[in-house]
Amino acid sequence: MKVYRNHSLKDHNTFGMDVRCTQFVVMEHPDEGEALYAAHLFEAPFHILGGGSNVLFTKDFAGTIIHPAFKGIEVMDDSNTNQLIRVAAGEEWDDVINYCLRHRLYGLENLVGIPGRAGSAPVQNIGAYGVEVKDCIDRVEGFRTDNLQPFVLSAEQCKFGYRDSIFKNEMRGKCLITHVWFQLSKKEHYTLTYKALANEINDQDLSLETVTQCILRIRNSKLPDIRKIGCAGSFFKNPVVPESQYRMLLAQHPDLVSYPAADGMVKLAAGQLIEKAGWKGKRIGNAGVYPQQALVVVNYGGASPEEIQHLYQQVILDVEKLFNIRLNPEVNIL
Ligand SMILES: Cc1cc2nc3c(=O)[nH]c(=O)nc-3n(C[C@H](O)[C@H](O)[C@H](O)COP(=O)(O)OP(=O)(O)OC[C@H]3O[C@@H](n4cnc5c(N)ncnc54)[C@H](O)[C@@H]3O)c2cc1C
Repeated sequence: MKVYRNHSLKDHNTFGMDVRCTQFVVMEHPDEGEALYAAHLFEAPFHILGGGSNVLFTKDFAGTIIHPAFKGIEVMDDSNTNQLIRVAAGEEWDDVINYCLRHRLYGLENLVGIPGRAGSAPVQNIGAYGVEVKDCIDRVEGFRTDNLQPFVLSAEQCKFGYRDSIFKNEMRGKCLITHVWFQLSKKEHYTLTYKALANEINDQDLSLETVTQCILRIRNSKLPDIRKIGCAGSFFKNPVVPESQYRMLLAQHPDLVSYPAADGMVKLAAGQLIEKAGWKGKRIGNAGVYPQQALVVVNYGGASPEEIQHLYQQVILDVEKLFNIRLNPEVNIL
């Protein structure tokens, strides 16, 4: 492992927040958990950081940042119809997608272009264009940070939900994911339920390449290039409200976009609420709401954590005033 003291996190978070941590530990092997445990690192404040693309640092982190960097994709089972792979936490997510493309494996292709590492994918059950990563997760492997006990959780035990899992709830801050197992299909099939994707594909021949290229084109047209503009993707979760509240809102806003949610609830589009509250494309200093996608809070360059915080809190207040709905951040705020 490598240990750096008083380390800058600027290059370790896609928001580009210029903050520091007391100690930065790069794990080069999953077994190094033992040494970290023996050094009592999991007793003091610590945070596990993958690619830092779903985090907003609001200040310096007074503790240890643990960065699992170990890589590897192993084939655990290979039949005529499926391949089961075990992916180490430090693999770049897009390298997992590239592996699938090279080996003609189906299931994850709609998740191309999502920044971050494989170990983080189950944490918020990443999703895009009608697919969630839970659809292909076979199990998640790691160890508990409070007693070093290894765990293996089946997909069902991970309690996946919309941008949610056991790792954001009961096991939050108590475990380090070392490997994620994916069950992938060799049978050619695609998920094209998302209208914009079907439109983009139009009459092109279907293949893994066509689908991923179309998705990357859509993503590039809606999302900022994180090498130029800092952000953490969708800043807010889409709110889920009772049917009765949705009916009342619909009477005032007949164009309200909605999707059916579990238990008879209704999911609304946070981006539309933000746009209606007048925030789409609005900028205060170096912080702003992205003009092409109102769900994305951006750092136009050099924004301080306070500027980003002030902006997103104003968005929450204005949406609440207009719709009586309190938006919840999807991003981890530290
Ligand atoms: C431009 C852009 C577009 C995006 N688009 C999407 C999208 O379409 N869909 C989507 O779902 N998300 C999207 N995201 C959000 C983000 O990319 C995903 O949430 C991604 O999985 C985060 O990976 P990461 O490695 O950067 O995680 P980090 O931000 O480093 O960590 C995220 C969380 O996971 C925890 N964690 C990380 N690694 C481990 C581990 N090994 N063990 C235990 N806990 C761990 C962290 O403690 C933290 O709580 C987007 C972000 C950006 C910047």
